[in-house]
Amino acid sequence: KKYVYSFEEGKKEMKSLLGGKGANLAEMSKIGLPVPPGFTLTTEACIHYIEIGEVLEDSLKESIFEHLEDLEEKLDKKFGDLEDPLLVSVRSGAVISMPGMMDTILNLGLNDQSVKGLAKKTSNPRFAYDSYRRLIQMFGNVVLGIPGYEFDNYLEDKKDEKDYDNDTDLTVEDLKEIIQDFKDLIKNRKNVEFPQAPEKQLLMAVKAVFSSWNNARAISYRNHNDIPHDLGTAVNIQTMVFGNIGDNSGTGVAFTRNPATGENKVFGEFLLNAQGEDVVAGIRTPKDIEELNNLMPEVYQEFIEVTETLEDHYQDMQDIEFTIQEGELYLLQTRTGKRTADAAVNIAVDMEEEGLIDKETAVMRIDPEDISQLLHPNFKEEELEKADLLATGLAASPGAATGKVYFNSEDAAQAAADGEDVILVRKETSPEDIEGMVESNGILTSRGGMTSHAAVVARGMGKCCVAGAGDIQVDEASKKFFVDDRVFNEEDYISLNGSTGEVYAGVVETTDAHLTDNFKKIMNWSDEYRTMGVYTNADTPNDAQVAVDFGAEGIGLCRTEHMFFDSERIISVREMIVADSKKKRKKALDKLFPYQKDDFKGIFKVMQDKTVTVRLLDPPLHEFLPQNERDIQKLADQLRIPITELKRIIDELEEMNPMLGHRGCRLGISYPEIYKMQVKAIISAALEVKEEEGYEVKADIMIPLVGSEKELSILRNDAIEIADELLENASVKIDYSVGTMIEIPRAALTADKIAAQADFFSFGTNDLTQMTYGFSRDDAGKFISQYLDQEIFAKDPFQVLDQEGVGQLVEKATELGRKEKPDFKIGICGEHGGEPSSIEFFHKTNLNYVSCSPYRVPIARLAAAQAAL
Ligand code: PEP
Ligand code: MG
Repeated sequence: KKYVYSFEEGKKEMKSLLGGKGANLAEMSKIGLPVPPGFTLTTEACIHYIEIGEVLEDSLKESIFEHLEDLEEKLDKKFGDLEDPLLVSVRSGAVISMPGMMDTILNLGLNDQSVKGLAKKTSNPRFAYDSYRRLIQMFGNVVLGIPGYEFDNYLEDKKDEKDYDNDTDLTVEDLKEIIQDFKDLIKNRKNVEFPQAPEKQLLMAVKAVFSSWNNARAISYRNHNDIPHDLGTAVNIQTMVFGNIGDNSGTGVAFTRNPATGENKVFGEFLLNAQGEDVVAGIRTPKDIEELNNLMPEVYQEFIEVTETLEDHYQDMQDIEFTIQEGELYLLQTRTGKRTADAAVNIAVDMEEEGLIDKETAVMRIDPEDISQLLHPNFKEEELEKADLLATGLAASPGAATGKVYFNSEDAAQAAADGEDVILVRKETSPEDIEGMVESNGILTSRGGMTSHAAVVARGMGKCCVAGAGDIQVDEASKKFFVDDRVFNEEDYISLNGSTGEVYAGVVETTDAHLTDNFKKIMNWSDEYRTMGVYTNADTPNDAQVAVDFGAEGIGLCRTEHMFFDSERIISVREMIVADSKKKRKKALDKLFPYQKDDFKGIFKVMQDKTVTVRLLDPPLHEFLPQNERDIQKLADQLRIPITELKRIIDELEEMNPMLGHRGCRLGISYPEIYKMQVKAIISAALEVKEEEGYEVKADIMIPLVGSEKELSILRNDAIEIADELLENASVKIDYSVGTMIEIPRAALTADKIAAQADFFSFGTNDLTQMTYGFSRDDAGKFISQYLDQEIFAKDPFQVLDQEGVGQLVEKATELGRKEKPDFKIGICGEHGGEPSSIEFFHKTNLNYVSCSPYRVPIARLAAAQAAL
């Protein structure tokens, strides 16, 4: 099997074999960009290496050395040469980019002898010894597993001792001392010598990168980002170019457009006289890419041209790593740049307008889940004016976050698990902080730039982040931070504005998001492509209005029970429940009627000509009754019945399994007058709104929890009787229909018979999931996390539709319903109606619409368009 490919042999389409980095290095070589020569060990080589117990087979080693010989020929240098050694880098390259997760070793091939040769050959001993120092440091950390901070702390102490500000102040003599001390450190910690044989260095490095596929932080990143664990990583071995030769050398990272805002302008940072990781690590503060224009105008010009070539070629925003070696530009990586949702939208629309991509591509470019970032709140302007501004850092990832400060990942994660709002405050973050970052509302660092770990990872997560707020001094050990003479302790509140970089003391209140023109464009384009309708689940005029503003085309579920909890009317609801005769119940319901009618009028007015699907009462009655002794006593007094009597009624209503008990249409069968009152209220409200406002009100009455067609036919006939009587006496006409939810497996399996009694179906996938799996919605939380941990479930089935099981019932019921009535209207109103992968499934199943909570409406519009494209 071919496990090694030279860059000439690869191309961008070979990503799954060569990893993202390898495939793109090959592609860039192919289109003539300046890429240092190299070769790639495939992801299959990694998988094989892991399968056979983490060993490198002889055949693979041979292949590596053959390719190394090719490099030697190309560069006319020898690996391990004592006078002019060929040096290489070894880097991981996963198929799906995993920033900061995997490991890199630079300057491989140097040893005690060849470092002297390099110093002489380049007439630059400082450079040679600095390179060797870096090799030993990275090798000690990545390959031998000594914590990076041991080396970093040593360097810091050394600089303090010598009173230096920068790494670049270290002299050759200092470096020689450091090299010796680093070698001793390795010996002390690991009881091995730093290997002098370049071949040995290379093979150990390759092994370390392959093995790092399964290190804890890589696994955690994959878990968080839904990346499969069996992809493996490629390894790239590439000839070194050096950014640390002097002040006409440097290294940097850049995006072809601004990754935070999407602005069409190259955005990046670089450091002079520095190598690889210095920029990302946030150790020195990098310079803005535009400054390169002053320092090396020709290189800058060439670089700008390269960014244009790359965007034209890849037709997407690129994230580039480059090195300048003595005035020569080299590219070390390109990949699709991660961006905020805001930037994603702006870039997609701009590129469409520039003619680089078409509308379909623009719509496909945006991750529906990311849309929620745009719908999320900002700080209130008025509040900001009086807010206590502490410092301003970089606007690394937009949004607004408030919470209590914690100073390490573990404390942050623990506090979040205890239900606290958390802001993680660090000097800078590293991959070890991932868990705390995931759990925090926002992240604040005092060091590092826009491409520092904190900034990159937070943007990827869509999490608010302010980076490099230099006015803040963080003392992680004592869990404090200082701003001038003020001290902030663990659990103090702060607020972060990730869109401006501002940091405030205390809590700052937030407002709803505003929608930009570009966002509206993407939404309108989505509407051109999608074939499914997008409705909303809304129980109040206010929710309905929010949803309409987000583009909802109707209400797919108005849950009426929430209306019953209003403090004024709950007493009538309770009176109705404890009534011991039809007459008394009727009396209580008469009191409720005007409230219900007003509820519906409010909603119809907002929805105007759009369909409003109202579900009749669903939950078991005991949910409306008081629980504790004091409230029971109070209710007994209010209703003027003895407390013993009330307690008896409450006991009677108590159920063993309320979710499977006396609820939904079963209540309608037992107490027909409840549903009758609700139907009367719906139809009366519709008639009045039509009369008063002139809207073409459309009322869909929906009966929940039906399991047999008989239940439905009885309740439907009752409803029609009431509605038609009201319509007969009315001066206007309205459209109404009576349908049902499909949320019980039996209903799905007998959907043809049920369809005969219904004007429409709406899948209640929450209950359908509960009943298909046979676990209760209210109790499943206790064990679902274990199921996810043990990978029994890939996803929580209450969030992401179980297409294999529950999905079959959806398909079956749709097929049977449409067999009975070919043009039958079918929708879905469970939580899954706002989840992109489920929406794709509903599209394939030919449903007419999905209905979801107001804030998910834009997500659903986009996901439905993507499903259709
Ligand atoms: C459902 O069961 O999916 C549904 C939408 O109804 P509820 O969540 O109110 O039971
Ligand atoms: Mg339900």
